[in-house]
Amino acid sequence: MKCGEMPEPLQLLKGQFMYQTKAFSAATATSPLTSVAIPRRDPKDRDVQIEILFCGICNSDLHAARNEWKDIMPTTYPIVPGHEIVGRVTEVGSAVTKFKPGDLAAVGCMVDSDQSCPNCKAGLENFCPNATFTFNSPDKHGTAPMTYGGYSDSIVVDEHFVLSVPDNLDLAGTAPLLCAGITTYSPMRHHGVTKGNKVGVIGLGGLGHMGVKFAHAFGAHTVVFTTSPKKKEDALRLGADEVVVSTNANEMKSHASTFDFILDTVAVDHDINQYLNLLRLDGNLTIVGVPSKPLALSSFALIIGRRSVSGSNIGGIAETQEMLGFCGQHNITSDVEVIPIQKVNEAYERLAKSDVKYRFSIDMASLKSE
Ligand SMILES: [Zn+2]
Ligand SMILES: [Zn+2]
Repeated sequence: MKCGEMPEPLQLLKGQFMYQTKAFSAATATSPLTSVAIPRRDPKDRDVQIEILFCGICNSDLHAARNEWKDIMPTTYPIVPGHEIVGRVTEVGSAVTKFKPGDLAAVGCMVDSDQSCPNCKAGLENFCPNATFTFNSPDKHGTAPMTYGGYSDSIVVDEHFVLSVPDNLDLAGTAPLLCAGITTYSPMRHHGVTKGNKVGVIGLGGLGHMGVKFAHAFGAHTVVFTTSPKKKEDALRLGADEVVVSTNANEMKSHASTFDFILDTVAVDHDINQYLNLLRLDGNLTIVGVPSKPLALSSFALIIGRRSVSGSNIGGIAETQEMLGFCGQHNITSDVEVIPIQKVNEAYERLAKSDVKYRFSIDMASLKSE
């Protein structure tokens, strides 16, 4: 820009209109999150603008902010994390049919996909090769280089990726349903968990505690595996029928070949074969935790009993809506510790030590004072 020239107005960049909104962002892998202003596009025809009321803190936020998954999903800075978003609709585009201003609304891990690939056509946008994630994905609208997540005052999202929220749920505890909730609900539905099944949940953290609530609500006999006996009381309170201390070999053995389904939420190195041995014929263990090193797999543990091991990654939009409806019916929310955004760096330190019961939920009203 030459001296004397007018600066290009923000609104005219890339031929679209934008506005500024408050957010918390990290500038590098080692910097704390701090208050910034970010651009959001003005709602287009199919867009819904949402005032964010609560945003959960997912482990992925922490990993992405610190670029800990750089080999698979390198982080572009600045990053605004957050993909467990609940809020209220403030404006809708002219072609929007599902929402109107004042409605409760939620956004999870995706804000776009090609909507034309076989996975999208099957309602599995979560497996779309061209999905746009809520943060740290190239922003195809060009509002910013990358998408910015929910640690923010507001967000603008294509209505296909906006979910309706039942009005009977506590909103702070609803936010984590958008990632921790659907991540645990989807594999149980996929593998047909139902009344009378015996279901195991390994690990009792943000994901595990949701897994227990869903397994219990599906009517399954729910067993929590944990290494810390002190979690027993809480596991029973959350809906477990039994708690097994996984370091007790005799206790583990007494459950051999009895489980229909086991959900593995553990994000550190562990022996999955001792759990595979607990599955009955054709039983399945689904992995949703992400340890940093590959897990060792015993062929025998699979062959004996035709057992299988699967992975699962969040859920499609239709299933996420179904999950929210199920939560409304059964009054299921995440157990949360509500914090102001100003405590987010402290919360990250605690999360890294698994020191939270069971999810942090940021009250975004606290951002208004920034
Ligand atoms: Zn997440
Ligand atoms: Zn697709």
